[in-house]
Amino acid sequence: MLSSIQLISEAAELAAQRHTGTPRKARPNEPYVNHLAEVANLLATATDGADAELVAAGWLHDTVEDTETSREELAQTFSDRVASLVTECTDDMNLPKTERRQKQIEDAPHKSPGAKLIKIADKISNIRARIVPDPSKQQRDDLADYVSWAEKVVAGCRGVNARLDTAFDETVRTAKRLL
Ligand code: ZN
Repeated sequence: MLSSIQLISEAAELAAQRHTGTPRKARPNEPYVNHLAEVANLLATATDGADAELVAAGWLHDTVEDTETSREELAQTFSDRVASLVTECTDDMNLPKTERRQKQIEDAPHKSPGAKLIKIADKISNIRARIVPDPSKQQRDDLADYVSWAEKVVAGCRGVNARLDTAFDETVRTAKRLL
């Protein structure tokens, strides 16, 4: 059994390795791992560090979707719960984007409490990445589109952690000032 610190540092290292060389989608000048660090830290802060598996899953939440990583590997290296949390946050990349987005909205209310927190933290991080000084029309359109979809997904994830709900609302308010 890994200790809490081992679990999280192992997750951070695996995530950093697997996403090596990948830029952030909304901020191509930043490495992908910045997004993962932000999500993991939002989760750790919102839960006062009480749930190491949740924070580890935050680091790992995009590994199955975007890299050569399987659920089995995560279950063996970490735990069944870490693997389940990541799987719950994994989209079927065979579906077109509009269907994936619709599915996230419909599936959100049926997720486990931990997966709901990861989804909210993910959306906070992705909105923040789109908040840039002096946005172009295209950047504003992209932000508006992302925020309106994120609000629908997060509507199905609320009520687990008040601090994270508030952090999401504040992020949306900041974004809407740019629109
Ligand atoms: Zn993500």
